[in-house]
Amino acid sequence: MSKELLEEWKEIAKKIKKYDKKYAHGIPLISDFSYDALKQRLEDIEKIIGKQRNSPLNTIGEVEEKTVDHATPMLSLDHGYGANSISDFYKKIYNATKSTYEKAVPKMIIEHKIDGVAVSIRYENGAIKYVLTRGDGFAGIDITKQSKYIKGIPQNISLKDFDIRGEIYMTFEDFDKTQGFKSPRNATTGIIRSKEMDFIASHNLQFIAHGFVNKGNFEQYSEGIEFIKNAGFQISDYHISKSEQESIEIFEKFDRDSVPYPIDGMVFKINDLNLCEQLGHHRTAPRYAFAAKFPPKNTKTFIKNIEFQVGKFGTITPVAEVNSIEIDGVMIQKVSMHNMAELQNKKYNIGDEIIIARAGDVIPYILSKESSGEKSFELPNQCPVCNFKLIWDSVTMRCTNGWNCNAQALLRIEHFVSRKAMNISGLGAKNIEKLFNADIVKKPNDIFNIINLVLNNDEVIKKLLGTKVAQNTFESIQKNKKLSLSRFIYCLCIPNIGHGMAKTIATHCITFDNFINIFQSDQIEIKGVGPMIIESIKKFISEEKWIYDAYQKIEII
Ligand SMILES: [Zn+2]
Repeated sequence: MSKELLEEWKEIAKKIKKYDKKYAHGIPLISDFSYDALKQRLEDIEKIIGKQRNSPLNTIGEVEEKTVDHATPMLSLDHGYGANSISDFYKKIYNATKSTYEKAVPKMIIEHKIDGVAVSIRYENGAIKYVLTRGDGFAGIDITKQSKYIKGIPQNISLKDFDIRGEIYMTFEDFDKTQGFKSPRNATTGIIRSKEMDFIASHNLQFIAHGFVNKGNFEQYSEGIEFIKNAGFQISDYHISKSEQESIEIFEKFDRDSVPYPIDGMVFKINDLNLCEQLGHHRTAPRYAFAAKFPPKNTKTFIKNIEFQVGKFGTITPVAEVNSIEIDGVMIQKVSMHNMAELQNKKYNIGDEIIIARAGDVIPYILSKESSGEKSFELPNQCPVCNFKLIWDSVTMRCTNGWNCNAQALLRIEHFVSRKAMNISGLGAKNIEKLFNADIVKKPNDIFNIINLVLNNDEVIKKLLGTKVAQNTFESIQKNKKLSLSRFIYCLCIPNIGHGMAKTIATHCITFDNFINIFQSDQIEIKGVGPMIIESIKKFISEEKWIYDAYQKIEII
């Protein structure tokens, strides 16, 4: 399993959980598109490293308030962006139903995907029993009281027991009359949770039905939804499509501005309810339905060039240089392409039209490819910095030239002096490079040479760093060379050793000599330190002789 992917997975999972929590309180921190992009990335990673426990993909959202269980779980829909995602959905249906592209294509209902709050309404003996928000799909917040003030939710119907699913939303016109909300959906989320019934009544929230739980005697979805309409509910305009091509055309020609409420895509559902039943569900969504979202217009751009960056342990990361584009107020010129396997599998080329996504402080990355450029592109076989031959290592390519690769050497020195490590001021990437090129600092322990150079009033160091910065750096080294063992272990930049692991090891070893002795022995048993870490440290201390000199220059406290 790739350690880097697992780390990335953890970081994204943490973010999604945070966003879910805020979203449940009506505070969306990022755009839907960016949120979906994060989830998509998580899914891609899980395809490589396997499904993870506690994955945000296993749940639909976050619920914190007191909730009521849904009688039948309220699943979300699988979704994608653009017309290509519709073709992919059709392919899945062809495979699942063993029909061919030409014949026996199931008829598909196409409805608006309204951007509101999904709810489930249960009627018992013809009267409303409860109205629940989706929540995490299994339990939602009870808004039965509030529902009286929402247009389009009849309090009584002629059927005895019935479960209806739909969306509470606000029209653009009504949204214009509100204050302090970012979007119609944001307003809907905020208003619906209010305990002030007058406040809810003063806003014109509406309900549109888009489904029912038990198929009863209905053979077709269209029969059911017409029945719901006759029972007094509002339903979305829908279309019954006979082919994949027709579905794509409807999607592509659709004018979002032609409807009075916000929609972010279209929903495709198989009309034949018996077939739907046969297809069933996977862990969070039904297999017979799909939501194709409209890609945000401003995130399409072109790949101008593909660059390769070298990490501190030689990992090569492909980066696409794109035609500048603004997302959420930030100008984007470079986007991550994740790893070499992805670059190879998705056949990215210079000239490709791509959709990019940005979420929070994550580096923007490519979400999908819209069309291919003409230029052909070949993977490099040499390190872009030192020309050493690259090797494949799991999903990445790696330069194994170590300290002889300037990119890796500079990054490792940067790590040694970084804020969480030695915390030396005055030594940013540019200054380190100057000292490196002047042969003053070639390995991390060489930074201690700066002490004598400054004490001897050396002209070269003053010229390279400037008198003031040289003095500051000198003082900073003097001050911070007293550090804990755990911090020193972290400074060394041992592969796979972060702050937490350094602490675990330092607590066990207590002194640097013990640390070396323990990891030179054959039987190592430290709670919380696995074989991969042990191997990594053993290799490191046998190869990296500079660490012994660095240890002489510092003082463990
Ligand atoms: Zn290299």
